Amino acid sequence: MVWLNYMPKLRCKYRAEFENKLTHSQTACYNASVIIDFHTHIVPPAMKEYRDELVHEDQCLGAFYADPKATMATAEELIASMDQDGIDMSVVVNMGWSSLELCRRTNDYIMDSIARYPDRLIGFCTVHPEWKEAAKEIERCAKGGMRGIGELMPHLQEFDLGNESLMAPIIEVAKNNNMIILTHSSEPVGHIYPGKGNVLPGMLYQFITNFPDATIVCAHWGGGLPFYALMPEVGRALENVYFDTAASPFLYKYDIFPHIAEIAGIDKILFGSDFPLITQQRIIKGLDQVEMPVENKQRMLGKNACEVLGLD
Ligand SMILES: [Zn+2]
Repeated sequence: MVWLNYMPKLRCKYRAEFENKLTHSQTACYNASVIIDFHTHIVPPAMKEYRDELVHEDQCLGAFYADPKATMATAEELIASMDQDGIDMSVVVNMGWSSLELCRRTNDYIMDSIARYPDRLIGFCTVHPEWKEAAKEIERCAKGGMRGIGELMPHLQEFDLGNESLMAPIIEVAKNNNMIILTHSSEPVGHIYPGKGNVLPGMLYQFITNFPDATIVCAHWGGGLPFYALMPEVGRALENVYFDTAASPFLYKYDIFPHIAEIAGIDKILFGSDFPLITQQRIIKGLDQVEMPVENKQRMLGKNACEVLGLD
């Protein structure tokens, strides 16, 4: 299996820093871990080149990349960053484009990238649920090796994630192809930022309870949804739901890591950066400052992702 062949080559400069602070037995334990970034974005080189024109043509591009300082990255730039920061594998999620053509072209680019880096990258495709071609496009991407659908961006693509009849065909094709759904999420309170949107815990909860058998990842800590896991019915509804840590430093204090682990369960948290918005090392360094058992850090950084993706 490709994954197992890759294991002996794992390397991480931050792992070495952790090891210096650990006892011998803990070091052995930490060495056994892997780091998987569950939330990264890449774009085709041509999109970078024609960025100035494209930002006016698509709401998603405009929301994220109208600011010239916002970084775009290709697959090669992601791999270079992973090598530098000691990331073993990354999940490349697409974005919420408004045109079928952009979806297809970016899906093609992600499929091409996972084919070129099969032991480093895992791909998720994108569609708009209202397109009649949506299920067919997901099937095409599944055949091309994609493992999930996302990042769904209902706020930019202007659809209701909580609409059961709209989402049912997407979930059906996802389940038939053993795919994971990853959706953008946002907080109902707090500061405003580009791309925040209205994918709030209420909408996410509706989506999750409509499709209890689907495997769903709510990005950006689910906009705070895991805090409600203390409500027994919400806790039960989260059985097949996970939360990624993408863009954490822009949203929460690092204390969120142990708090969500305690409230929703350590097995629910997937390390994600939102690269190239944030470097992987920034979140790993932040996590290093947090008081948590090493085993829990290992779970968040990679072991949980291995289980969700069926890599082990
Ligand atoms: Zn997002």
